[in-house]
Amino acid sequence: MTAMEKKIKNIRIIINPAAGSKESILPIINTSMKEAGIKWEASITRQAGDAIGFAKAAVKEKIDALAVYGGDGTLREAISGLIGSGLPLIILPGGSANVLATELDIPADLKEACTLISHSPLETKTIDVGNFNQRYFIARISLGFEADAVKGTNRQNKNKIGILAYFFSAVAALKKIKKTVYALRIDGQKYKVRGLACFIANTGNLGFSSISFDKHIDVSDGLLDVIVVRKANLSLFKLMVITLLKRQRPDNLELVGHWQGKDISVSSRPKQTIQCDGEWLERIPLHIKIIPKAIKVLIPKKTGSV
Ligand SMILES: [Mg+2]
Repeated sequence: MTAMEKKIKNIRIIINPAAGSKESILPIINTSMKEAGIKWEASITRQAGDAIGFAKAAVKEKIDALAVYGGDGTLREAISGLIGSGLPLIILPGGSANVLATELDIPADLKEACTLISHSPLETKTIDVGNFNQRYFIARISLGFEADAVKGTNRQNKNKIGILAYFFSAVAALKKIKKTVYALRIDGQKYKVRGLACFIANTGNLGFSSISFDKHIDVSDGLLDVIVVRKANLSLFKLMVITLLKRQRPDNLELVGHWQGKDISVSSRPKQTIQCDGEWLERIPLHIKIIPKAIKVLIPKKTGSV
């Protein structure tokens, strides 16, 4: 990480008006930016795809950064438009799932996030983005129970799932799932792994709390993490709880397989449902790559860091 030398003076903000908050967001943004002397213009999204166009247009503007108010869906679109441009991104969390904001310790409260961004020194963090079939993803692709949940649950129910409920339902769902055989190719190395669920992750957190799926999954290390859940039993639940409470890497390899790589192919037989960042996918097999250091994000400088 490097400290931002220039103070931000001029930004564009993409606002998804359908994003979560009940309070009026414009006065909050306006007050923070005014106090900090930051000039801002807004682009309001009306339909899916708008944020890609806004981000592409913002790259050509004379601005210091592009801010995005919305959830992961809006953010993913903006990132698609920003990749390779070098224009820094500012995240103002507004959706129900804010994986990237959580990962980067940006407060979930808009006012708090705005105040931090506009009033404290900022630093640039470069992050990786996942890529497959000309699409991008921030958090993870998964095969198995999580994808079944995405396919079967509507957005509202999904947002109500608490962290423990998530793991209880995960174990319950895993118990019902028939084992499949994953054909994995990780940086040219082939593996056949029997298991119940497979995750290809760019970030470790689950997006609705600060609790991480695996604290060792690093959004800036240039690698994707491949995790296969081999068995579902009480030990798996214990392992999940220990991983959560102690923030340790799941080290029981009998239960969980873990690999890292830059170029990953995965297919399953019998076929399993697939999801990507909360969206159900039909296509299989998948060829997934990482784009290292794809995006620069401005985050509040951590006290004590240089
Ligand atoms: Mg990584």
